[in-house]
Amino acid sequence: MRKPIIAANWKMNKAISESVDFVKDLKDLAMDIFNVEIVICPPFISLATVAEVLKDTNLKLGAQNMYWEKSGAFTGEISPVMLRDIGCHYVIVGHSERREYFKETDEDVHRKVKSAISFNLIPIMCLGEKLQERESGNTLDVVERQVKKGLDGLTKEEIKNLIIAYEPVWAIGTGKTASPSDANEVHKFIRSILKKLYDEEISSTIRIQYGGSVNPENIDGLMKEEEVDGVLVGGASLNINSFMKIIKGSGRPGPMKGGDQV
Ligand code: PEP
Repeated sequence: MRKPIIAANWKMNKAISESVDFVKDLKDLAMDIFNVEIVICPPFISLATVAEVLKDTNLKLGAQNMYWEKSGAFTGEISPVMLRDIGCHYVIVGHSERREYFKETDEDVHRKVKSAISFNLIPIMCLGEKLQERESGNTLDVVERQVKKGLDGLTKEEIKNLIIAYEPVWAIGTGKTASPSDANEVHKFIRSILKKLYDEEISSTIRIQYGGSVNPENIDGLMKEEEVDGVLVGGASLNINSFMKIIKGSGRPGPMKGGDQV
């Protein structure tokens, strides 16, 4: 069984002191939870202080974005080396807000995924269709293109720890969620692409999160689906009570694979 992974994407929210207060509380509330992997992705400015609080806990640190170069004249950007240095193990790549507002292309996402892996960060590679693409029946084509371009040329060994987050764009921050069975179908489809590109082992071990207006009310239904291995949470991860309810709703009994490598 794959170990569920719950990641909090705080986006451009919470000052350093708020981030620290949150993780101090979370550290205590979640200290006995080992059947779910928990990743916190605060804004860049809070990474260093949050990393201090998360040291020697069961909580892991992720960044929300990165540039693909190691260093150099790229004003305003943050490199994978810097993220590792600060204590990140994960990095969100290709979030739909990056694709939409900052014009990131599939090729950019691929460069970031490749670079993150080469610097020992685990990418959470986001993908998903826009409303118009769904309504015109193109969901699977879009998802297939994003998976193939994102992973272009990467080996089985390179992608073995990668996380995919299926996030239909129309569900992000809107209060609308894909039904659990619709999410499951897309996840199953992603596994079929992974099987064609790699093999059965990769297809059955890669963890695929769902993201898009996840909250304490819909977490149970989503996690009941076989192919849903956790969630990427925006809005509902900003409040400690709702985030804890999501974490508690995400556990699965029994031995689980994944998440022990970092
Ligand atoms: C996200 O930012 O990845 C996200 C899913 O946001 P929300 O949960 O607010 O829809």
